[in-house]
Amino acid sequence: MSNKSRLPTEFSPTLLIANVDGNHIHNEILLGLPPRERDLLFSKLEFMRLKTHQVLHEPGDTLKSAYFPNRGLVSILSVFPDGKSVEVGLVGKEGFIGLPLVAGFHTAPTRAIAQTEGSVFRVDSEALRGVLLQCPKLERQLQQFSQIMTMQVTQIAACNRLHAVNERLARWLLMSADRIGSNSVPLTHELLAQMLGTRRSSVTVAAGMLQKAGLITYSRGDVKIIDRRKLEAAACACYRIMLLQIKEWQGEAD
Ligand SMILES: [Zn+2]
Repeated sequence: MSNKSRLPTEFSPTLLIANVDGNHIHNEILLGLPPRERDLLFSKLEFMRLKTHQVLHEPGDTLKSAYFPNRGLVSILSVFPDGKSVEVGLVGKEGFIGLPLVAGFHTAPTRAIAQTEGSVFRVDSEALRGVLLQCPKLERQLQQFSQIMTMQVTQIAACNRLHAVNERLARWLLMSADRIGSNSVPLTHELLAQMLGTRRSSVTVAAGMLQKAGLITYSRGDVKIIDRRKLEAAACACYRIMLLQIKEWQGEAD
């Protein structure tokens, strides 16, 4: 599953630009690091493939690892004692799983689960703590991503309460496509119903409406976005609000 061989320390930073142990880096936080911090962090990373529905952590788990998603999509779910869950966040190659560690916390408050097949770069939480002391840019980027996730969780909480399922479905498909970097989103209605906190039949009706209007096509386990502009118009305001806030912050970031 993973290749545990380590890069030789004499590797020049320029050669480290896009690879860890020969695995191409797509994670934007990793790509945004200066050479000195890459040298410190990359030797601690382990490439790991993810299967669909693979759980990275459950609520209450001690966070032994953190993850930089490289390919695919990871959902952050709020889980209730009766087993019901609803999605409150989505993370792809722009992000990081394990934010409590950045603030010195050790337990997970949510479930993080792979929505699709994909890959991550795993780092041991103790190793991350040591690296963070020496890597101000990494720490800054993780703090900024923490703010982005707080904003996203806030918006999605309001969205889950206030907006219709077809608007939320459109919003979810756009967010997922952005994070996967593709107009094809692998997904079943059952899973999507869990994500949107609604009944499977409601998702089927909503997906049928979007398909009839020529915005998407769907077949077993796969949704394709056909008309992105119209899908954006069909989504609730939440998608655009989150996108604009992230752009605003990217402009302000030092
Ligand atoms: Zn909404």
